[in-house]
Amino acid sequence: MAGPLVTAGGVRLAGALEAQRERLLPCVHCGFCLPACPTYNRLGDENDSPRGRLHLMQAVVEGRLDASSDAFQTHIDRCLGCRACEPVCPSGVEYGTLLELAREAAAEARPPGMLTRSLLIVMGSRPLRGMLFMGGRLLRATGLAGWAVRHLGGDGVAGKLRFALAMLAATTEAEGFRRRDTAVAGVASATHPSGSVDAESAGTVPDRALDAPGGTVGVLQGCVQDGLYGRLNDATGRTLDANGFHVRIVTRQDCCGALHAHGGDLQSARHLARRNIEAFERAGVDWVVVNAAGCGAAMKDYGVLLEGDPMQARARAFAERVRDVTELLAAVGPRRGAPVTCSVAYDHPCHLMHAQGVTSEPLQVLDAVPGVEVRMVAKADECCGGAGIYGMTHPDLGAHIGGDKVAAVRETGADLACTPNPGCMMQIGAGLRIEGSGGDVVHPVELLDHSYQRAGYYR
Ligand code: SF4
Ligand code: SF4
Repeated sequence: MAGPLVTAGGVRLAGALEAQRERLLPCVHCGFCLPACPTYNRLGDENDSPRGRLHLMQAVVEGRLDASSDAFQTHIDRCLGCRACEPVCPSGVEYGTLLELAREAAAEARPPGMLTRSLLIVMGSRPLRGMLFMGGRLLRATGLAGWAVRHLGGDGVAGKLRFALAMLAATTEAEGFRRRDTAVAGVASATHPSGSVDAESAGTVPDRALDAPGGTVGVLQGCVQDGLYGRLNDATGRTLDANGFHVRIVTRQDCCGALHAHGGDLQSARHLARRNIEAFERAGVDWVVVNAAGCGAAMKDYGVLLEGDPMQARARAFAERVRDVTELLAAVGPRRGAPVTCSVAYDHPCHLMHAQGVTSEPLQVLDAVPGVEVRMVAKADECCGGAGIYGMTHPDLGAHIGGDKVAAVRETGADLACTPNPGCMMQIGAGLRIEGSGGDVVHPVELLDHSYQRAGYYR
């Protein structure tokens, strides 16, 4: 079965795909995955479908196509990596793993653009990303990011800059959550004027004994979460603690490597994975908790990422312990908090729903907040177009896919958008801001945390 490995300028790269030949074989070309694919649905080109991309990978493995060819580069690059094609595939094709290998082949045959390269370098370095996010927080705090979104316009570089700043502005804490003693904007509490919680409307705290801990957990701080969503990391620790988990600080952890893996830099992704495995092993935690869907999906795949590595067995054991925060909270049945009266437009993150099979758990978390009315976004299972910096690298297609999602969010008429993944929060929030229609987006755990604060669970 071994096909030729030689492709001009891509001998080693085709070899990387060759090693995955068995992963390509299960595809029977049935096409069941096509209707699930956002790029195929928008462009109608077979090469922009999962089946078409698998054909392209196969052609590179067999030496019929060069990894540096326009066809391979364009269509592999255009994939969102949303993995909506995986759960609908009757043959169990591991599309996400194959895509990462194809991206590595594409990147080594033809280095990616400056924007992607710079991003991967910065995210892989703690000091560099620390400086980047410090600048981001400054732009956000001064309101300059929001001002620029309202005043910048046009296409090209200005359009990309505007979108990047809109994503930054979207990380601002939702208006009604900033002052925890006051109900403002679309978020009303059931507190009395005195500030005390209405015990009846607050619901009952379950009898479950909170001195029976759910285990020891360490929270992945992440790169974007640590830099721009510190409040979400804090909320994750507080809500787990309030539900009987012992939260342990995990030092010397790092970025999960998902951005690098998706960008074709598997070497850096493996390096970061090894660092995290060592850090969480040292901390001796039962569960590795993640509040970002893309990071969770990547870390649950560490065993695959480190195939053939001396740390493979440890990577597999580590991956078994990774849980999305909503999985752990749902598993213990989260305590009900005080009411937070608002409606939320809920959207499923691809890397939670398709890559991890986590669908109902975030809704169970929202169910623990009395007063929250959940309105499902139409086509909530379809990608929002986030996919890292897709909106900047593919402005037209990204705007098309993202625009459809923003329209669906607006159609719900809800007070807030809600999705359990910072990347999707930034993408949807940016789209709403660019449209000039507000744009507050919250994580379900933020809502639960807000509800617990109102109930006085943290005093
Ligand atoms: S990836 Fe799966 S669903 Fe898609 S064509 Fe191949 S076998 Fe069919
Ligand atoms: S990952 Fe998403 S965009 Fe890529 S082929 Fe699969 S469904 Fe299409």
